[in-house]
Amino acid sequence: MRRGRFAPTPSGKMHLGNARTALLAWLHIRSLKGEFVLRMEDIDTERSREKWAKLALLDLRWLGLDWDEGPDVGGRYAPYTQSERLDRYAAGLQHLQAKGAVYPCYCSRADILSAASAPHGLRSEGKAYAGTCRHLTPAERVEKALQKSPSLRFAMPEHRDVSFEDGIAGKQVFAAGSGGDFVVRRADGLYSYQLSVVMDDADMGITDVLRGYDLLDSTPRQILLYEALELEAPAFLHVPLLNGPDGKRLAKRHGGIAISSFRERGIPPERVVGWLAYVSGLIDRPESISASELIPSFNLSLIPREAVVVDIPNL
Ligand code: GLU
Repeated sequence: MRRGRFAPTPSGKMHLGNARTALLAWLHIRSLKGEFVLRMEDIDTERSREKWAKLALLDLRWLGLDWDEGPDVGGRYAPYTQSERLDRYAAGLQHLQAKGAVYPCYCSRADILSAASAPHGLRSEGKAYAGTCRHLTPAERVEKALQKSPSLRFAMPEHRDVSFEDGIAGKQVFAAGSGGDFVVRRADGLYSYQLSVVMDDADMGITDVLRGYDLLDSTPRQILLYEALELEAPAFLHVPLLNGPDGKRLAKRHGGIAISSFRERGIPPERVVGWLAYVSGLIDRPESISASELIPSFNLSLIPREAVVVDIPNL
């Protein structure tokens, strides 16, 4: 049985960009007669809010999507909310530590701030970590530990490229070490996006990870984690992003794109879905259509291979 998922971070109102990823992930799995999981990625407690999580479920249902398992409906791999799964991330980390795949890092703030959220392209994290703490001697570690609690970083293999076949983006090759050693647990104890997403997708039996192109360069990190944890990696499918009129990734600041704002204005969900389907190459004109009506003709090959620049729709 194929199993897909949508894994929103409840850090704001769901908008056309996130909804489009949800729609495509859902169509992909439903067209394969597979099972769809909804997982709430609220591990970044500073950015996540319960009210956004609730709104996301409402927005997705209003759009006509459904899920077989999720925070509100339960399921055999419950819980489906990351803040309730910390014991799983601790178990994963223990496995990595036992294998010597991670090391303590005493470097300062930048990493400590960024690691819990899914990076929108690794460049958004700043420069790759130079590996400063990787080769500290035991004595140096003891000394540094007196001053500061460390974050934990995954040691990237030095001489091995990571390659995979992306179901949409095609063959991908990442040079050995690219992106640098990354944080799996922050100094303040928060588990990173990279570790939590791998543990969850593995625990929940996810076979198909369809998500936005901004996470393509996180995939080699996740593949290495699967390997180190002795877990089977799913298939990855990265859809090119929707960009706003300024050419930048569609985001809150573009305004007028929150799914709830369409609902509140009395716009029928089919009109929003029709627009999403149109900009994703699934239909020829932005006409009203329900999500389930799109299932029979859904085909990954219809999705444009480049980012699409869109105007904010006047629905
Ligand atoms: N929670 C992530 C985000 O909203 C998505 C993670 C994933 O699909 O791997 O950006």
